[in-house]
Amino acid sequence: MTHTCAWPDCSLEGSFPAPKDPRDLRLRQYFCQTHIREFNKRWNGLEGFHPDDIFKMQNVGPSWDKPTWTVGVSPTSEAAKSAPFANADDLFDFFQQRIKQKASPSAAAPLVLPPDVKEALVIFNIEQPLPAAPLKKHYLALVKQHHPDVNKSATAEEHLKRINVAYKILADYADRA
Ligand SMILES: [Zn+2]
Repeated sequence: MTHTCAWPDCSLEGSFPAPKDPRDLRLRQYFCQTHIREFNKRWNGLEGFHPDDIFKMQNVGPSWDKPTWTVGVSPTSEAAKSAPFANADDLFDFFQQRIKQKASPSAAAPLVLPPDVKEALVIFNIEQPLPAAPLKKHYLALVKQHHPDVNKSATAEEHLKRINVAYKILADYADRA
């Protein structure tokens, strides 16, 4: 499937995918090689802007040389050239990462969990920190399972205390994530 470059007034073939909407990075549009570079430059630091706005800024004439969002950095400066997403592959990787992070905040950084959180995960018998709602559900199930009224084993009460501590740790973590 071929696409036409999404840049206004460009009819070249668009072979470089780019996000269509900063609020939904799964939506794609396609640009030609020249315009993916332009798009990358503009996108950098433009989160929250709609592409239509980006295009409008592009069309405002001479003042484009001093865009407000790159204060101190002219688009042709070395700083701009060395900006991330110098090519489409970098950009695409970046968005893949962003999509993953949105889908699961913890999946992007499984190795930086604090030790207390890791220990709490073991007590909860789960692999990754959960968001608040499913965490609470899991917690209540554990409490039910280990409550001394139900579980007559000698260690049940001690284990229930550990579950409570682990829940506090994981709930705090979910709030911060
Ligand atoms: Zn183009």
